[in-house]
Amino acid sequence: AKNEGRNNFQFYSQHLQANIERTTAIEAALRRAIEQNELRLVYQPQVELRSNHITGVEALLRWQHPTLGHISPVEFIPIAEDSGQIIAIGEWVLRTAAKQMKQWLDKGMLLSVIAVNLSALQFRHPNLLFQITKILDEEGLPPHYLELELTERVAMYKPEEAIAIMQTLNKKGIRLSIDDFGTGYSSLSYLKRFPISKLKIDRSFVSHVQEDSDDRAIISTIIDLANNLGLMTIAEGVENEQQLEFLRMQGCNEVQGYFFSPPTTAEEIERMTSWSADV
Ligand code: C2E
Ligand code: CA
Ligand code: CA
Ligand code: CA
Repeated sequence: AKNEGRNNFQFYSQHLQANIERTTAIEAALRRAIEQNELRLVYQPQVELRSNHITGVEALLRWQHPTLGHISPVEFIPIAEDSGQIIAIGEWVLRTAAKQMKQWLDKGMLLSVIAVNLSALQFRHPNLLFQITKILDEEGLPPHYLELELTERVAMYKPEEAIAIMQTLNKKGIRLSIDDFGTGYSSLSYLKRFPISKLKIDRSFVSHVQEDSDDRAIISTIIDLANNLGLMTIAEGVENEQQLEFLRMQGCNEVQGYFFSPPTTAEEIERMTSWSADV
């Protein structure tokens, strides 16, 4: 038994070592990812249920490394947060998204918003407002076309501080939404004070609406709450018609998910979206 314990320990320490090595490799590779042109954005349509039109898109980051291959943002974003590289990467994301949205609007595409994910470190960074304002000015994108998605966790950490940051962004005309809503621990008294426009219902609730009545209850409660607070709702991770119909019945405003489209290229978005008739 003693031997087994030691073997187990060896196994775990080798496993740990491999993890550390991969993290170190990713961190080093990330340092060159922007200049080596390895990052790109994909866009996932957000469909308004009242009109059945695509009214917005969420920008999602992709990284293809020449030897490490495709690395998921779920893996590299936390590493970039720990190393501080998320600031430069986040700036690249905001710039690229703003540029793309401006191009789409100039071409006459009928989109009202591009949503960009903001990490905890970016949100708390003292330069955030200056950085975003500069990007919007330089790209010529009016602020109300940009929506920043903050996870519930990020928004609820030191909430008084968070409210102050949100207010400066909101005063600029930038829109804010709470991502992965329902998974964190929102204090309703703070939620009421957030200058946000939308709650994004987490995929984990949407996935099980067919078989789990608790998840149905949670979704309808979130939608009621949002209505009462004057907020819009969007559900993420909608993969089938049953989920869509449930959300429609509950009065959810918008949906996003594989049922309509996975995150895709800008060209594909152009094929799917409505265009203004006079352009
Ligand atoms: P998220 O913000 O919750 O994004 C939604 C994730 O769900 C995306 O994964 C998307 O591809 C995936 N998804 C969309 N529809 C469906 C569906 O119907 N079914 C299923 N199973 N999945 C769906 P992705 O692109 O791998 O991104 C994962 C996470 O990485 C994001 O979660 C976000 O937290 C983070 N992330 C991605 N891009 C950025 C970025 O530019 N900045 C920051 N800070 N984080 C990002
Ligand atoms: Ca998101
Ligand atoms: Ca989300
Ligand atoms: Ca989620």
